[in-house]
This record gives sequence, structure tokens and C-alpha cells, in this order.
Amino acid sequence: MIDMADDDTLTIALSKGRIFEQAMPLLEAAGIRALDDPERSRKLILDTNDERVKLVIIRASDVPTYVQYGAADVGVAGKDVLLEHGGEGLYEPLDLRIARCRLMVAGRPDANPDADLHSQGRRRLRIATKYVRCAERHFAAKGKQVEIIKLYGSMELAPLVGLADLIVDLVESGSTLKANGLVPLEHICDISSRLVVNKASWKMKHTRVTGLLGALREALDGRAA
Ligand code: ATP
Ligand code: MG
Repeated sequence: MIDMADDDTLTIALSKGRIFEQAMPLLEAAGIRALDDPERSRKLILDTNDERVKLVIIRASDVPTYVQYGAADVGVAGKDVLLEHGGEGLYEPLDLRIARCRLMVAGRPDANPDADLHSQGRRRLRIATKYVRCAERHFAAKGKQVEIIKLYGSMELAPLVGLADLIVDLVESGSTLKANGLVPLEHICDISSRLVVNKASWKMKHTRVTGLLGALREALDGRAA
């Protein structure tokens, strides 16, 4: 593992796709430009215009883990991913207000998230989701016992083929739900990407990290909210 204490490189973890596309303009405003395009290059470590700054390109859900273990000093991760990870070992000092969407319960138009199937002698409501922790917490807060089925993608299919009564998924415009005959039923929380910092890097590289934070804050202030 990289020994952060002796090393003056700042490593930033982020995923390709929407987070890379939306985070790069902010990083550029903070003076960090990638020398490669992760959609074209197979490189997992990208150099930047600043030789002391590297980008590591990983799966969105792996970003908190890389930062937590010190393989990256900072990262850009969706609040959904952070809620599922738990955020141990991480500070979350800045909302980047990018990759915004909502975590929602959705289902067929006739589905009822408050149906009390159990008291009718039927099985518990089944919820298909990639967001197991968030889904558990949401239904527990409503005092509902549900059965969670963990999926890794294409959650919209589950209610259509009878795998689940409801799904918990991210919704942006609602068009994916609509295309599959589903409707949003309950809003769980708003999601956006956050800057996360490893607690050790926060101490050992305080000047670098707070410099980056300040520059990103300024870039965000320059944008309409
Ligand atoms: P992978 O593709 O590796 O399985 P992923 O699907 O979570 O992971 P992305 O689709 O790039 O990866 O999503 C990354 C982050 O962007 C999510 O964690 C979430 O915070 C946000 N996001 C996901 N879907 C949307 C959406 N439809 N609109 C806006 N933001 C979204
Ligand atoms: Mg995706």
C-alpha cells in the first residue's frame, strides 16, 4: 500500500461515466486536468497536469473502500454508495452537487407499499434492490417487515416478472421506470456526489487537502445552485 506519510502525491479516486464527466469540470476549475480520457484509455491510474496529483478510475461502489484503506487520499462518491458503505474512516466535507437524483421506492401502479400482507396471512412485501441498507432502514422506520432481495442491476425487471412487489432504486427523470410500466411511490432521500477524504490523509496532507477543498468550494460557488 502507498505510504501516505512519506509521499507528496495526492490520489483522487473516482468512477468513469457520469461522475467522471461531471466531476472533471470542477477539478479543472481547481487546476487539475486529466491527461487521458478514461472512456478511451484502459489505464486505471491517470496522470494529470500536476505531477503530484493522480486519478484512480474504479467502480463507483469501490470508491469509499479505496479511500477508507488509504489507497486514495480523496474520492468522489454518490451519497447512495456512501450510505451503503457506511462511511467508516471517511470525512465527507463537501457536497459537489453533481450526479443528482433521488432514491425512491417504485413499483407497478397498483402496488401499495403500505399493504399489510403479513396480517392477511400472506408473505411479507418483497423489495428488490442494490441498496440493501437504505431499503432496510426505510422500511424499518415505517415499522414494516419486508424481505429484501439483493440485485446488482436492472431492478425495474423484478416487479414485472414477479420477483418482487417493489424496488428501491435511483430515479432521475423517471423515464426508465415509465418505460417499464412502473411508477415512483415513495421518496427516500435526495442523492448527489460527495467529496470524501481519508481521515489519515486529512491529517497528514492537511494543506493539500484543504487547498483542494477550497478550490472546489470556489468552483461550486461560481455555479448557479
Ligand atoms: P456500476 O455501473 O459500476 O455498476 P453504477 O451504476 O452505480 O455502478 P453509475 O451509473 O456511473 O455507476 O453511477 C454512479 C453514481 O451516479 C451513483 O452511485 C449515483 O450516485 C449516481 N447516479 C446513478 N444513476 C443516476 C441517475 N440516473 N441520475 C443521476 N445520478 C445517478
Ligand atoms: Mg449505472
